Amino acid sequence: MAARRAQRSWAEVSVRRRRKVLLALHDLVLEHRDEIMDLIQDENGKSRLSAFEEVLDVVLTCRYYGYAGPRLLKEKRRRGPVPVFTRTREQYAPRGVVGIIAPFNYPFSLALSDALAALLAGNAVVLKPDSQTPLSALRGLELLREAGLPEGVLQVVTGAGAEVGQEIVAQCDYLMFTGSTATGEKLAQQASARLIGCSMELGGKNPMIVADDADLDRAVEGAWAACFSNSGQLCISIERIYVHRKVADEFTRRFVARVEQMRVGPGHDWETDMGSQISPEHTDKIAAFVDDAVAHGARVLTGGRRLRELGDAFFAPTVLADVPPTADLYSQEVFGPVVYIEVVDSLDAAVDRANDTEYGLNASVWAAPRTARGVAERLHAGTVNINEGYAPAWSALDAPMGGWKKSGLGRRHGAHGLLKYTEQRNVTQTRFINLLANRLPRQKYADAMAAALQAGRRFLR
Ligand code: NAD
Repeated sequence: MAARRAQRSWAEVSVRRRRKVLLALHDLVLEHRDEIMDLIQDENGKSRLSAFEEVLDVVLTCRYYGYAGPRLLKEKRRRGPVPVFTRTREQYAPRGVVGIIAPFNYPFSLALSDALAALLAGNAVVLKPDSQTPLSALRGLELLREAGLPEGVLQVVTGAGAEVGQEIVAQCDYLMFTGSTATGEKLAQQASARLIGCSMELGGKNPMIVADDADLDRAVEGAWAACFSNSGQLCISIERIYVHRKVADEFTRRFVARVEQMRVGPGHDWETDMGSQISPEHTDKIAAFVDDAVAHGARVLTGGRRLRELGDAFFAPTVLADVPPTADLYSQEVFGPVVYIEVVDSLDAAVDRANDTEYGLNASVWAAPRTARGVAERLHAGTVNINEGYAPAWSALDAPMGGWKKSGLGRRHGAHGLLKYTEQRNVTQTRFINLLANRLPRQKYADAMAAALQAGRRFLR
């Protein structure tokens, strides 16, 4: 009720004034970045650089929608059915109260960034962060209030998915969910039963392709970040590498050596490459995936074990080879620091293997630019990064981002990521005469219309 009340007043505020809140938040987040990164790291266990990615994401989102939003939300002139006699406008009204359910892995940016677009469009937002990571979202709320967001327009409700999450799904006017495919499938069914719109950002089993004309120096350096950033708990991180036979030995040797140099541990310093997993329980699941793969014949090239000397939630960055299709992690998302390498004889084989999955979130291609672009257009994925792992396509905020197949429904970023939070209204005005109920004799009216249509086919394209 409070969110609905707040939304009505917020919708009266002009878009130009609403965007000021985003631009103020941009500056506040940069100003408070150290304290925000400390909080994210303490809550989630990730490395400093991964925490900085969250700061970057929120800041870039504020800037993108802060500047592009008013243009995207402005009513558009559309072609009416009959020139001169009709005038059509497309308008965008807020949906009302948007429910956002967010996961633990990017507790600051995934809670805030989707909310920013919804708020700019004139909605109120009820946000449920993951129950393991509520503090980063609550800090985001404080900063938004400081940036000028009126009270009640964004509400953060902490608690379990089965209670708070379900209540949001039952009451909101639009649902934005980020999390696992299993939960997403269930919530999408609930949203469709209520006939409300929803956007689902779900899991992935993202492939990387290394072609024989790739720059191996860059590929090796890029691959460790693509696989192990955010401790591998990243929906768009790489869990499968298909490398061309001609460069497979060299790539594998150098990649494994680079992974073995990674610094893993807790702490706020910038030098650590990888922090912990979210919890000991999540680490158990990762260990079980690796044990199962080994039991099915996979070889551990590096890692493959818990790092108990660092804590209960640390798992070594792990590279596997010879993973058979019978192993669970061959096709299932691990959501941890585990990747396997498969050697392929051609790019066609690499593309076939990359697409042979129920997911379609992100893919990465390392190759000479022309080769890479040819491969990219054959991949079934919402984002393809050429000569990078995941960051550039994610950060290209002017373009849509989201999953094919079981990786999602709908898109974030770009025009779609904003307009999905609106109801569209087609306002068409007729001028001079009524189009249908007019005084013309009906036969004459039909003949005149037919002649107009004939002319229209030639002149109105
Ligand atoms: P999850 O589905 O278990 O939980 C996500 C959120 O949903 C949490 O806030 C949780 O409390 C809530 N939730 C759980 N059950 C619910 C229910 N029945 N009703 C309402 N809410 C419920 O996901 P997770 O394991 O915490 O997150 C990891 C998953 O998220 C991975 O699969 C990852 O790939 C995916 N992910 C996707 C993206 C993306 O943009 N596509 C981004 C980040 C994470």
